[in-house]
Amino acid sequence: MTSTLETVQKNIASAACDAGRSSGDISLIAVSKTKPLEAIRPILDAGQRAFGENKVQEAAAKWPELRQEYDSVELHLIGPLQSNKVRQAVQLFDVIETLDRPKLARAIARICGEEGKIVTCYIQVNVGRETQKAGIDPDKLEGFVALCRDELMLPVAGLMCIPPSGGNPEPYFLMLKEMAARHGFKKLSMGMSGDYQTAIACGATSVRVGTALFGAREDRY
Ligand SMILES: *Cc1c(COP(=O)(O)O)cnc(C)c1O
Repeated sequence: MTSTLETVQKNIASAACDAGRSSGDISLIAVSKTKPLEAIRPILDAGQRAFGENKVQEAAAKWPELRQEYDSVELHLIGPLQSNKVRQAVQLFDVIETLDRPKLARAIARICGEEGKIVTCYIQVNVGRETQKAGIDPDKLEGFVALCRDELMLPVAGLMCIPPSGGNPEPYFLMLKEMAARHGFKKLSMGMSGDYQTAIACGATSVRVGTALFGAREDRY
């Protein structure tokens, strides 16, 4: 029987091929939020190492144990980060994908210095300019990049987005790609279970896939 991981890996490879890209240039982030350790271990056993969680508290309850069992885990924070949880986030995560405001950038820079830890960051852009959504406004991106990269010298690898739900995500993916190119960023974290092939066609270098790997979640995020 083909596992969900194999299916997603195959889909990534064929989307890359269709786009004339190498599948090695696209990483899969397995989004394990809400899923218990028993559900995560088989994916780790199959060799997957990059995972995404969107709550600091939940990651703290799950990943120290899994990191003891498995080497080379790379954990990505993909949910909103409150300033008072930055220290814990810096200790737990290898990558923070939701850098989206000056106060947070300053806190991450300060605490990474104190902890002596380098955490790769992605700037989250609110591509749909949705009031309820996290992410920096596209109009403020330029100044924010200057702050994060040039002033605070955070290791910003690229941009991340979650397009408005329901519509065609493609214009938003292309918009993120254009903004990344303009600022010299090579990495684009975009695409989820419903649209990762489209995201790959638009240049995604990592896709964040939960439901297609682990099945539906009970809670609403
Ligand atoms: C939950 C989540 C995902 C994964 O969503 P699926 O549709 O289950 O693949 C990806 N990115 C972010 C930021 C998420 O919160």
